[in-house]
Amino acid sequence: QKQEWAKLKNEPTVTTDGVHVELVANIGTPEDVTGVQNNGGEGVGLYRTEFLYMGKSELPSEDEQFESYKAVLENMGDKPVVVRTLDIGGDKELSYLQLPKEMNPFLGYRAIRLCLERDDIFRVQLRALLRASVYGNLKIMFPMIATLEEFRQAKAILLEEKDKLTADGVAVSDSIEIGIMVEIPSTAVAAKQFAKEVDFFSVGTNDLIQYTMAADRMNERVSYLYQPYHPAILNLVHNVIEAAHAEGKWAGMCGEMAGDTIAIPLLLGLGLDEFSMSATSILPARTQITKLSKADMQELSQEALALSTADEVEQLVRQRTGQ
Ligand code: PEP
Ligand code: MG
Repeated sequence: QKQEWAKLKNEPTVTTDGVHVELVANIGTPEDVTGVQNNGGEGVGLYRTEFLYMGKSELPSEDEQFESYKAVLENMGDKPVVVRTLDIGGDKELSYLQLPKEMNPFLGYRAIRLCLERDDIFRVQLRALLRASVYGNLKIMFPMIATLEEFRQAKAILLEEKDKLTADGVAVSDSIEIGIMVEIPSTAVAAKQFAKEVDFFSVGTNDLIQYTMAADRMNERVSYLYQPYHPAILNLVHNVIEAAHAEGKWAGMCGEMAGDTIAIPLLLGLGLDEFSMSATSILPARTQITKLSKADMQELSQEALALSTADEVEQLVRQRTGQ
């Protein structure tokens, strides 16, 4: 099996009926890029930048961040690198930031909400990213976007910093795509409106599932509700992909679901363009996808959308794909 995977390391991911999808990796540090390359990743679909901020006694400086982003971009060459801006709060705390204690941290002050209020912190990160943009193929993604206003505000701040850098004679790429994570149900439902303004979507199923099912992803007593194959989730993902394509944009997924062998046939059928997963899942996923027909998976996923339970969906996929 390992040999079968290895053969596909430098191959594109193409279905039996000739449809190409992109298999990229989730990373947390610049060192993780080696794993992406060794496993045939076609890019980075989610660079979680929290690690730069965690386990320290103060905020990382602009230069420190710039060096990290530059290293990832340079090492990935012309391959795409989607960097997610700071997603702190919720379960991820920073000792040096006095965040208020909250009753429901996952429904509270985190990610883009914090960055828009503490734009002093946000601007430093954006400047570091903009300066690094000339070293590769950078795409910037905002986490936990719930409303179009949040996206517009974040984008406006980004463009302000870009203008300042340009005025100071600093080189900045002119082709940075700006997208959002779809991990809040309001955004998945209103994807059509978002698709007119964003360059891309990446579905964050880890959070999208917990918010859709109202089940804390850290709470074992309700973990039975964490159901990636639930028709409600599939319908949301379907809506996001359709909305993106109607506006000529692309849709990816960077939650755990993107590397799940039961979910992959469904996501392929729904038209997902980019699958971002842990590096070690890439070659198994490529092996799986190269044996599937997109047309068949489209039929499969349409049937799945109309089923009633996650269990029924799983049974259907197992039957049809022989898993
Ligand atoms: C997600 O929510 O699916 C995601 C990829 O982000 P994180 O797991 O970092 O919240
Ligand atoms: Mg998330």
